[in-house]
Amino acid sequence: MHFQWYPGHMTKARRMMQENIKLIDLIIELVDARVPLSSRNPDIDELGKNKARLILLNKADLAEDRRNDEWMEYFKKQGYSVVKVNSKKGGGIKSIQSVIQEACKEKMEHDRKRGILNRPVRAMVVGIPNVGKSTFINALAGKACAKTGNKPGVTKGKQWIRLNKNVELLDTPGILWPKFEDQTVGLRLAFIGSIKDEILQTEELASELVKFLNQSYPGVLEEKYTIESSEDNYEVLRRIAESRHCLVRGSELDVEKAAAILLDDFRNGRLGRLTLELPEEN
Ligand code: GDP
Repeated sequence: MHFQWYPGHMTKARRMMQENIKLIDLIIELVDARVPLSSRNPDIDELGKNKARLILLNKADLAEDRRNDEWMEYFKKQGYSVVKVNSKKGGGIKSIQSVIQEACKEKMEHDRKRGILNRPVRAMVVGIPNVGKSTFINALAGKACAKTGNKPGVTKGKQWIRLNKNVELLDTPGILWPKFEDQTVGLRLAFIGSIKDEILQTEELASELVKFLNQSYPGVLEEKYTIESSEDNYEVLRRIAESRHCLVRGSELDVEKAAAILLDDFRNGRLGRLTLELPEEN
């Protein structure tokens, strides 16, 4: 474990997670469908051992759909229940309740055999910052009944959202910290805006994105910005600046602005549905 290494708020997040995890049967782990591995934190396996597990490929609308399906297979093979969702638009949300029941079948069977009846399954949402935890909880709660109050035996102040007569969801998500150690992972998290431009300057980050796109999705930038292709990443940024009339002092190209436009377009899906990492590479 690398406790000392975590910034203070992450240590606190971890402590809260350890407390809350004791109260639940099922961990609903959100990952970003564009970077399903880079947006995970392996610590959750240790924290959540003996719990039922469900992985949601969130922001599935921003990733290539055939890749989403490949990733679903990948996680299913590892024994997880998996659903692809678009929490923002509600896509996939309807199927969640039945998947939760399915994921907790063993647990419920276990209870039944011990004569414990009508005990609801308790679940909690976890994931790294910005992966869509709040959006997902709202989407799910929007379809559910009102929140339940404090209950005997439940830590005071915890709110449970009753999804149906069998399932309750903790209303506050558990925050996992991203893995900063690996450079490639850091870069991918920066591309999707999860660690906001902390590791690289905008231009440098955008030029790395150009490099990635030219390798994995050739032609996308040329088509989007109506530019000629170039092997030189910075030249591509300059061409985007030209094409988008990004100028400083009336005549100089504003490459920084072009870099910001590119990152924003990518993050919001305006370059199309793109997946940054593939299961076969792992
Ligand atoms: P949290 O930090 O994990 O709670 O993340 P939020 O719920 O605040 O979401 C972060 C951003 O991602 C917000 O701008 C959401 O609108 C957006 N978002 C969440 N889910 C989705 C999704 O499925 N698709 C898309 N396109 N955007 C999403």
